[in-house]
Amino acid sequence: MRKQRQVSWEEVTQSAQRLFDRCGPEPRLWGIPRGGTYVSAVLAGLGARIAPTPQDADLAVDDIIDSGRTAARIKAEFGLETLALYDRASGTFDEWLVFPWEAGKLELDARDTITRLIQQLGDDPNRPGLRKTPERVVNGWRQRFSGYRHARNGAAALHLLEDATEEPGGNADIDIIRGIEFHSTCERHIQPFHGALDIAWRRRDGGARRGSISASTMARLVNAHARRLTTQEQLTAQVARAIAGSGRAHAVLVRSTASHLCADGECQTGVESIREALHSPPGTAGGIETQLREALTERR
Ligand SMILES: [Zn+2]
Repeated sequence: MRKQRQVSWEEVTQSAQRLFDRCGPEPRLWGIPRGGTYVSAVLAGLGARIAPTPQDADLAVDDIIDSGRTAARIKAEFGLETLALYDRASGTFDEWLVFPWEAGKLELDARDTITRLIQQLGDDPNRPGLRKTPERVVNGWRQRFSGYRHARNGAAALHLLEDATEEPGGNADIDIIRGIEFHSTCERHIQPFHGALDIAWRRRDGGARRGSISASTMARLVNAHARRLTTQEQLTAQVARAIAGSGRAHAVLVRSTASHLCADGECQTGVESIREALHSPPGTAGGIETQLREALTERR
């Protein structure tokens, strides 16, 4: 998921000035509702001529050209080219831009969706017990899906391991952290599943990144992957891949145990399900796997 970036009014005005410089005072501009309407108001303040309807205009203006679908529709319908404050095709930005006129809108949209869902269930969203439910759901989801604040999938939270301070290594070359609890959400059913991860890894010999990883760092790494829509398999594999990719581990075995609340058997509803993921250098899997598995099983 793209990172969100709040665009300030100041930045809007600067971008609008650049847009105005490009098209000059001559053409009559029409703002595409709804973002473009705000842009045309700012442009009017800079001296641009504003057209009340697309039929009176020479150019359309918008806040952003994202997929390009709106601009294509305006071209087909009114024969107008669109200029925007930001054009995704320019490749100059990769964030999800939130304009001043959209602040708080995403949250309101999410609440509306929950309200509509309650109506579709056949209940009355205005009865006292439900009136604040959409707000509570959205607040809860902010925490439950906080993993999306990290970069997507495989790269998620790798920086957590990179930034972590080195712990002094013990004598044994295999480290174990047991019982890292997680709460996650099944991507097939949007139902919660929760459980714990046991992780065993063999420290890499020598090198700058030698040393163990603290339990709290490991817990943050697990949360970054768990607090999003995923599956137990993916979660287990991604944590293993992240630890292997950090350069701290020669080989790693992750075992997860979880219970699911899902509606069908494929998610192992109602039973404790176990998943494992192993990462080890090519050609060494058998021996290391046995060692790590024994370590996870024996050292209690
Ligand atoms: Zn499920």
